[in-house]
Amino acid sequence: MSALSEPASYRPAPNPPTTRRLAADAAGIAEAARVLRAGGLVALPTETVYGLACDATDPVAVARLYAAKGRPSFNPLIAHVPDIEAAQRVGDFSPEALALASRFWPGPLTLVVPAIPEATSELARAGHSSVAIRVPAHEVARAVLAAAGRPIAAPSANRSGHVSPTTAEHVLADLDGAIDLVLDAGPCAVGIESTILDCTISPPALLRPGGLAREAIEQVLGAKLARRATPQGKADDLIAPGMMASHYAPSVPVRLDAHEVHPGEALLTFAGARPAGSERAAAIFDLSPAGDLIEAAARLFAHLRALDAAGASGIAVVPLPREGLGEGIRDRLERAAAPR
Ligand code: AMP
Ligand code: MG
Repeated sequence: MSALSEPASYRPAPNPPTTRRLAADAAGIAEAARVLRAGGLVALPTETVYGLACDATDPVAVARLYAAKGRPSFNPLIAHVPDIEAAQRVGDFSPEALALASRFWPGPLTLVVPAIPEATSELARAGHSSVAIRVPAHEVARAVLAAAGRPIAAPSANRSGHVSPTTAEHVLADLDGAIDLVLDAGPCAVGIESTILDCTISPPALLRPGGLAREAIEQVLGAKLARRATPQGKADDLIAPGMMASHYAPSVPVRLDAHEVHPGEALLTFAGARPAGSERAAAIFDLSPAGDLIEAAARLFAHLRALDAAGASGIAVVPLPREGLGEGIRDRLERAAAPR
């Protein structure tokens, strides 16, 4: 049996923070960057809506962000960077993608390109081998990104299912006490989210209409955008037939809610549970020996990969909690377990 994996990066969640509200001046910007680099959650103004920002390279910070938003599944997050040079360290740009970036960044356009794997955490990409990238136009956002010096995930700063916030008051109405800091720069200007283009295909496909008009994009491309039926650009809509390959899934069968380990199987467990047959498991990985769902979410993709590499005939997964991030973890494992 292989050793239990205990990534050194996990830090236990701190006591529930009180949310600080700072003016978006030089001191506020420096503090926001410091909190982000320390793995904290910061609501930032962008030209579209207030974003809930975290370090996109840190799976624990990303898990905390999903928990604060109360998202029922792990949607892929947009990596925000201060300029094109930083963007090219996060993803692979085709000449077409580069032409769009040069023309429209900074601005309300998000480009999905093949990911440079080490540049963002797999949890931030929700397992995709592509990454969505944007350079926001808001000068406060860009100053924070430049000072943070790493890609920053920033979905809208609201609880899942609520409307996107365009003021610091909206942010606090939803997330007071759940995040570390709000950087207040007054109301946002555009108020609708970025247009999202899939640039992993040519011509690119419109995944979500938004703050930049299709016509302006088509003019630069000299071609019509391909159509992709993805209302609202929800991550679920991306899991169309033939697209699973872009989503990490183990090569062996995954069996959920297992109460015993079958011969030849490896075990994915939680909170130290050892179901019958564990002693003959090909490998055992515990998502969180302490039973912490944020730690479990942060480790999910790394553990799936390690289990996949263990040479087992299948992966048995113990019953996992359904509350909090448990719902997103179960959702991801159900996709991994789906017949392909
Ligand atoms: P937002 O809610 O504005 O943060 O936008 C997030 C949306 O970006 C997701 O729900 C997806 O629709 C899209 N997105 C992010 N990453 C990817 C990706 N790698 N591939 C396709 N779409 C993505
Ligand atoms: Mg939103």
